[in-house]
Amino acid sequence: RAKREGRNRYSYYTAEMNAEVKRRLELETGLRRALREGQFEVFYQPQVAVENGCWVGLEALVRWHHPERGLVSPDEFIPVAEDSGLIEPIGEWVLAQVCRQINEWKRRGLPSVRVAVNLSARQFAKPGLLDDVAAILSAEGMGTCAKQIELEVTESILMGDQRRSITLLEGLRAMGLSLSVDDFGTGYSSLSYLKRFPLTALKIDRSFIDGVVDDPSDATIAGAIIDLAHSLHLSVVAEGVETEAQWQWLRAHGCDFAQGYFFGRPMPATEIEARLTARLAEQA
Ligand code: C2E
Ligand code: MG
Ligand code: MG
Ligand code: MG
Repeated sequence: RAKREGRNRYSYYTAEMNAEVKRRLELETGLRRALREGQFEVFYQPQVAVENGCWVGLEALVRWHHPERGLVSPDEFIPVAEDSGLIEPIGEWVLAQVCRQINEWKRRGLPSVRVAVNLSARQFAKPGLLDDVAAILSAEGMGTCAKQIELEVTESILMGDQRRSITLLEGLRAMGLSLSVDDFGTGYSSLSYLKRFPLTALKIDRSFIDGVVDDPSDATIAGAIIDLAHSLHLSVVAEGVETEAQWQWLRAHGCDFAQGYFFGRPMPATEIEARLTARLAEQA
C-alpha cells in the first residue's frame, strides 16, 4: 500500500512538473512569435522630483499584447525570457524603441525627459554588451541624447564578478548613460564595492516604501538608504509610492525622486505625449 501511495505521489509531482514545463515552453514559443510579429509595447511610468512633484523622468516598462490573453505582465514573461535567452533580443528592442521615442519627442519639440531602461542579468552577462549598446545608440542616431538614458541593474547583477562590473559600468558611463541600482535593499550588496561602482542613483525597493509611514523598521531602512546614497554622492529614487503620506515622509527625509501609482501608472507613449504637450502649453 505504501508503495502504491509513493507511486501516486511520484506521478502527481510529475504531472505538476510537466504542466510547468509545458507552460514555459508555450510562453517561450509565444515570445518568439511576439518578437517576430511586434507584439511588444513600451509603457512609461513618470518619475517626479520629491520636492515639488514635477515630472523629471520616466521608466520604460515592457508590455506584451498577447493575441489571446491580452496584456501580459513582465513578471510573468521576463523570467522565461531570461532562461531562454530571449531577453537579449527583447531588451535590445526595448532600448532601440526608447531611443526612437526620445528622438521623436525631441523632433516634436516636447520637453526633454530622462528615460530609465531595465537591463537584465543575462544582458549584463553577455560578452559584447558594450558593443551592442553602442551599436543601438549609434543606429538610432542618439548622439548627445544618450545622456537622457539611464540603465537600471539590480544589486545581484553587479555583485557577481565585481571587477567586470566596474569595467562595464565605466564603459556605459563613457557613452553618456546614467546607471542606477534597482530594487536596492533586497539583494546582497557589499557596501565597500558600492563606492567603487560608477553609479548615479539607488532605487529604494517598493517593499520598504510600503511601510515607511507605519512600520518603524521599513522607515529605518528607507532612511538609511537615503543617507547611504547621499554619502556616496548618488541620487535616490523611491519606488512604489502609492499615498500622499508616503510622499510627505520622503519629502521630510530628503529623498530626491519618486515613482509610483500616486504620481502615475505606467502608460502608453501617447498618454505621456499628451501630458508633455499640456505642460508645454502651460509654460507658453
Ligand atoms: P522594476 O524595474 O522594479 O519596475 C517597477 C515595477 O513596479 C513595475 O512593474 C511597475 O509597474 C511597478 N510599480 C510602479 N509603481 C508601483 C506602485 O505604486 N505600486 C505597485 N504595487 N507597483 C508599482 P512591471 O511593469 O510589472 O515590471 C515588473 C518588473 O519586470 C520590473 O521591475 C523589471 O524588473 C521587469 N521589467 C519590466 N520591463 C523590463 C524590460 O524592458 N527589460 C527587463 N530586463 N526587465 C523589465
Ligand atoms: Mg526598474
Ligand atoms: Mg524596481
Ligand atoms: Mg523589480
